[in-house]
Amino acid sequence: MGYSVDPWQLAWRGLDVGSLDRTESSFALSNGHIGLRGTLEEGEPRGLPGTYLNGFYEEHQLPYGEGGYGYPEAGQTVVNVTDGKIIRLLVEDEPLDMRYGRALSHERVLDFRSGTLRRETEWESPTGRRVTVRTERLVSFTQRAVAAIHYEIEPAEDIQLVVQSDLLANEPIEQRSGDPRVAAALEDPLVADFAAATGSRAVLAHHTRHSGLRMAAAMDHTVHTKDNLRTDVHAEDDLARFTVAVDVPKGERLRLTKYLGYGWSANRSVPALRSQVEAALDGALQTGWEGLLAEQRAFLDRFWAAADVEIDGDERAQQAIRFALFHVLQAGARGETRAIAGKGLTGPGYDGHAFWDTEIFVLPLLTYTVPEAARDALRWRHSTLDKALERAQQLGQRGAAFPWRSINGAECSAYWPAGTAAFHVSGDVAHATAQYVAATGDEDFERECGAELLIETARLWAALGHHDPQDGFRIDGVTGPDEYSAVVDNNVYTNLIAQKNLREAVAACERQPDVARRLDVSGDEVAEWTTAAERMTIPYDSALDVHEQSEGFTAHAEWDFAGTPESGYPLLLNYPYFDLYRKQVIKQADLVLAMHLRGDAFTAEEKARNFAYYEARTVRDSSLSAGTQAVLAAEIGHLDLAYSYLLEAVFTDLDDLHGNSRNGLHMASLAGAWTAVVAGFGGMRDHGGKVTFAPRTPPALNRLSFRIRLRDTRFCVTVDRDSATYRVDSGPPLHTSHHGEAIVVETGSEVTLPIPPAPEPPKVSQPEGRAPRGRT
Ligand code: BGC
Repeated sequence: MGYSVDPWQLAWRGLDVGSLDRTESSFALSNGHIGLRGTLEEGEPRGLPGTYLNGFYEEHQLPYGEGGYGYPEAGQTVVNVTDGKIIRLLVEDEPLDMRYGRALSHERVLDFRSGTLRRETEWESPTGRRVTVRTERLVSFTQRAVAAIHYEIEPAEDIQLVVQSDLLANEPIEQRSGDPRVAAALEDPLVADFAAATGSRAVLAHHTRHSGLRMAAAMDHTVHTKDNLRTDVHAEDDLARFTVAVDVPKGERLRLTKYLGYGWSANRSVPALRSQVEAALDGALQTGWEGLLAEQRAFLDRFWAAADVEIDGDERAQQAIRFALFHVLQAGARGETRAIAGKGLTGPGYDGHAFWDTEIFVLPLLTYTVPEAARDALRWRHSTLDKALERAQQLGQRGAAFPWRSINGAECSAYWPAGTAAFHVSGDVAHATAQYVAATGDEDFERECGAELLIETARLWAALGHHDPQDGFRIDGVTGPDEYSAVVDNNVYTNLIAQKNLREAVAACERQPDVARRLDVSGDEVAEWTTAAERMTIPYDSALDVHEQSEGFTAHAEWDFAGTPESGYPLLLNYPYFDLYRKQVIKQADLVLAMHLRGDAFTAEEKARNFAYYEARTVRDSSLSAGTQAVLAAEIGHLDLAYSYLLEAVFTDLDDLHGNSRNGLHMASLAGAWTAVVAGFGGMRDHGGKVTFAPRTPPALNRLSFRIRLRDTRFCVTVDRDSATYRVDSGPPLHTSHHGEAIVVETGSEVTLPIPPAPEPPKVSQPEGRAPRGRT
């Protein structure tokens, strides 16, 4: 049993109870506001049920054996809110439960073009009664507060059916948190405020005990059947139920559509929330099921026209990349000034927190395909600026220190060497801001948010760093992307991202003098940023002729890879951090990531030498790494290796490579697969806001193509074995370059150019047993 291969959908045939939890993540539906895991309608058997509202969390105390100054005190954890997915069926008097009786056939299909999850089950009850259940559900991209389920039953003989459609709050689930305080906060996290039911409609409203957030969920139904129908509705604190009892003759069907409305707020009252969710329902009923389906498809048609990636020569990879794009879209489409969490809204992993994953891995995809979603995610960062300013102040700095992990913008990491000291997050936010502004020319965003983000993050670097006696600008005592090193001096990634941040802030002040004035940016301050950027320390080991990931890194002892068994990975769970920190072992691309995002700061020879050096020491204990390694492997000419890394990134969840996809999908890895295609095999770079290409296909493929939106220009790049074609579909002509040659492509036309042979790369190898795990 497993996923079957199809270019536009993901299907799983048969019931495998042991795989339910991870398939629920893959089959999750979301629009960035509401997230529904792919559980069966009847609720059981199940892996891990989950219904999430972006930004809705409970607060709890963070655990410390020994506290310290500036340690964040409050943690935040995403809450499994009122479950509206449940529709139970009684066939005569037997509940449909696939663990009993016989499933004659069973299939679930996630359709990337309709944006729905379909299910078809032919079930025979233990007493031999047969029914076919067909369901289709969606979380609407067009009506943000709405989800809907179409439910159809066809009996094989005259039969009495009872359908119970529920809203269920405080659904009992086994807590997986090892920390009793977190588990306690999440046990029955919702306190009932209001319950009402009438006709076919019901509403439940609840609040959380500590974070003080309120939410409401509402459902309404339309039932299509001939006659002989009995219905009932009632609501109590944590349960609302609409029941339909009906005799269905052989050959007829019972069809029911369940509409769901969700809303939450930190400020609005219960009556206001109730009106909000009821209005959402009225809108959805007015549109109707067919209308919702049509809107969903039209939304996705536009998305695929703007974002599709075609892979010719590897059907599994084709399916997987569309799966990846679909889920990244779901995570970000309608977040609207809420965070995009590391797992999107597909599971409770990482407590529902957002990380730098968003800005560095997820936003590039959105910026160049659905820029509105990238803008909204950056607006979320901007909306948390007050907390970032406060945090910097608490840490004795100036400007904005954005959190390592958070839901509402406040730092939630209790592990300060990786959390608090990973100041690069602020530079990552600045990087994504500058990238978005350059790609879209969105002046409103820059005036309202972007310039301020760049200025306040630049202020952080000016405060954190200092000039040494030789006048080099140093940023000491920070943690870079590689969490197997911590609190290091002059991490190259951090310093290069800070350098760019400082320069972008100077440029933003010139473009937005009013913002600069409002924020009291003086001429001296701008001069300070310029000098700091110019004199940024970039450590280099001239004996080995490679960059040092951070000062002193290349002098550290080597890790004993040959003596590390397969079961020793991930290392962080099997070896003490102190030992990881003092050796040359790398969790995830760090210097290699710097060579991608700041490729303009390295020569081609440096990139090739550095790549070989760091490749041999990188274990990829984080799923964030493979996509970046693909990009650099492709650039230096290791096209086969790059392809293996693309596969590892794109199959992270479908093949459950990290063994934790049940907790949710790895959005950064899925988006990283897009980056592996576009920046790896497309060779797309956007240094200094100028977009260029240097495409090359891997030998495993015949061709690949991808679509990009740059300002108002929409274009497609197709990479064949020997040539690449640039086609502009709409908007102004495209000005770019192909392997260093400037080109202009007129609207409605295409330009095909030969691909020069790949450079001869140095030999590279991975630590023993750590070769890429992608397979086709
Ligand atoms: C990685 C981080 C990442 C986090 C969330 C960790 O394993 O090391 O870089 O931000 O996971 O995805």
